[in-house]
Amino acid sequence: MTASRLLLLGPPGAGKGTQAKLLVERLQVPQISTGDMLRAAVASGSEVGKRAQGYMDRGDLVPDEVVIGVAEERLARADAEKGFILDGFPRTAAQADALDRLLERRGTPLERCLCMVVADDELVSRLLKRAELEGRSDDDEETVRNRMRVYREQTAPLIDHYRGLGVLREVDGLGSVEDIASRIEEALA
Ligand code: AMP
Repeated sequence: MTASRLLLLGPPGAGKGTQAKLLVERLQVPQISTGDMLRAAVASGSEVGKRAQGYMDRGDLVPDEVVIGVAEERLARADAEKGFILDGFPRTAAQADALDRLLERRGTPLERCLCMVVADDELVSRLLKRAELEGRSDDDEETVRNRMRVYREQTAPLIDHYRGLGVLREVDGLGSVEDIASRIEEALA
């Protein structure tokens, strides 16, 4: 049996989004990316988007209550019943607790947390390259460094949380997309 309730954890630029998309094909469950949903909210000019925009532009985290609402609504949709690939959520202890409680209520606990490991220097150069290619407004150097600091301070502690739950697998995030995908495959078995 391959796990299908997954969380991809790792710093910005670790390749979570790329691997999440491959996993969508492979497992036929949706990718749930709070970053993508928040960018869509900003683009549509919704209330959530208005609350989120300033934080996102600075590379800070959007307040927990906003993000938890967005994620819970998405997880409640029918297509997430048979599984999901969480990408970029949770990012704080409060978000992780909210997720644990939600999944416990549903009786569908998380099966794997895949933590993608990539050295800092490599991350900065990947993110600056992505800035050129995609023109994301939160990919300039100062914002990139802030996002990495925010990750270290607020999100990296979740690694221990998921280790404690017995679902953590660390995956070397260096190498080709295919190499990393096959390491993930092993970690899901
Ligand atoms: P991402 O595309 O996952 O790197 O997210 C882009 C930005 O959206 C982040 O820098 C945050 O400002 C915001 N964001 C996305 N997910 C979360 C989350 N789980 N908690 C707080 N802010 C988030």
